Amino acid sequence: MNIIMIIFLFLLGLTFGSFFNVVGLRVPKRLPFTNDRSICPQCNHILSWFELIPVLSYLLQGGKCHHCKGKISLIYPLVELLTGFLFALSYVTIGLTSELVIALLFVSMLMILFVSDSKYMIIPDNVLLFFLPLFIIIRFMQPLDPWWSAILGAVIGFVIIASVIFISRGGMGAGDMKLFGVLGIVLGIKNVLLVFFLSCMFGAIVGILLILFKVIDRKQPVPFGPYIIIAALVSYYYGDSLLDWYFNSFM
Ligand SMILES: [Zn+2]
Repeated sequence: MNIIMIIFLFLLGLTFGSFFNVVGLRVPKRLPFTNDRSICPQCNHILSWFELIPVLSYLLQGGKCHHCKGKISLIYPLVELLTGFLFALSYVTIGLTSELVIALLFVSMLMILFVSDSKYMIIPDNVLLFFLPLFIIIRFMQPLDPWWSAILGAVIGFVIIASVIFISRGGMGAGDMKLFGVLGIVLGIKNVLLVFFLSCMFGAIVGILLILFKVIDRKQPVPFGPYIIIAALVSYYYGDSLLDWYFNSFM
């Protein structure tokens, strides 16, 4: 375990997190995210370098646009911090192995989807289609044990959400279904089932709290993606330990 490496991955994550905010906001609107400058979505003022430092700019400007004083969404610094933390955590839990490549790609995909789903309630196909072939290739070289767990995970993940969509008629969307297919490849069968269980649990707990405290009313649609994303991260890093603990304690 190398402290320099941990700090390096944290800072790398902060920087990438800033980029994932841009990608997550622009891809669903089919805007390019490579060449044009970042602007304030409220006053269209072009951001200068000191307004683009991850987390720090947000804190120094008190969460407001330097130009129009419009509120900046808390999602931006949150995604930057979370990406930094998860990049570092990936190295700490996995070490310098080829699985680390999957971990960093997995975090990247989930952070972009977190932005898109929180903002527009969309899980963009383009993002899934960009990461899917990478996961398939690397899972082929760095297989799960047993190797077919990834294939079964993808199929079962897809089928479970398809059934939920069919039964509930609107509880989840096609985007969630495709996302579960991709999660299956990375996580395997046992952990993709765990993601389903955990995301329903998180969603139910937060949903009940939001209704109890009257933050939202019962009819208002809530994006389910963030719960899937948090559940997927928990399962990726701690799924095997959680499952071991559960089966040893209760079975
Ligand atoms: Zn502004």
